[in-house]
Amino acid sequence: MDDAPLILIVEDEKEIAKFIDLELRAEGYATEVAYDGVTGLSAFREKAPDLIVLDLMLPVLDGIEVAHRIRKTSNVPIVILTAKDRVDEKVEGLDAGADDYLVKPFSIEELLARIRAHLRRVTPSVTGEVRVADLVMNLDGREAFRDGRRIELSAKEFELLETFARSPGKVFSRFDIEEKVWPEYTGGSNVVDVYVGYLRRKLEAEGERRLIHTVRGVGYVLRDE
Ligand code: CA
Repeated sequence: MDDAPLILIVEDEKEIAKFIDLELRAEGYATEVAYDGVTGLSAFREKAPDLIVLDLMLPVLDGIEVAHRIRKTSNVPIVILTAKDRVDEKVEGLDAGADDYLVKPFSIEELLARIRAHLRRVTPSVTGEVRVADLVMNLDGREAFRDGRRIELSAKEFELLETFARSPGKVFSRFDIEEKVWPEYTGGSNVVDVYVGYLRRKLEAEGERRLIHTVRGVGYVLRDE
């Protein structure tokens, strides 16, 4: 399968790396495995993978630094693997540019589901339209609809929703969102939570199901669950 998506696995625990590798191959993906950060980075440069599964606790060069360096040149989806109860690490990883995270031990089904979601991440079409489930955003006309119902949004609300809708399934930390949508703020405000509240009220005004979900201790994600 020449056109199978290539997934780079960067994980120093060989048992885990081997397990993920076997499962991904069984699903029809092409894979490349690296056991430390430096090797992972050069594999990224040489192979241009379609997605990266990146452990954070790595020898030589840690995962946060690897994510940072990859993000300087690429938007490739990065799913990080973190140790249990290391909330700071998760947030740091997301702020470094990772798209999503899984806490060890994770189920392989969960990893496969996240990989599928990130590989089909939408990019705006030529008409400037973004669709996620029944949400449609017309980026040129600055209009949003849910199941055909027009949703009135302020400029900031639109910008926030657009940030989420351009990367469905991507987990955003509060810091990440604030930097993008409210660069004039210095951080530590509750503006993100307040505006997510506004958006939810408008998006769910007719009892529609929730699209913007809270990721405890981290931030928010837009996905159809
Ligand atoms: Ca590790």
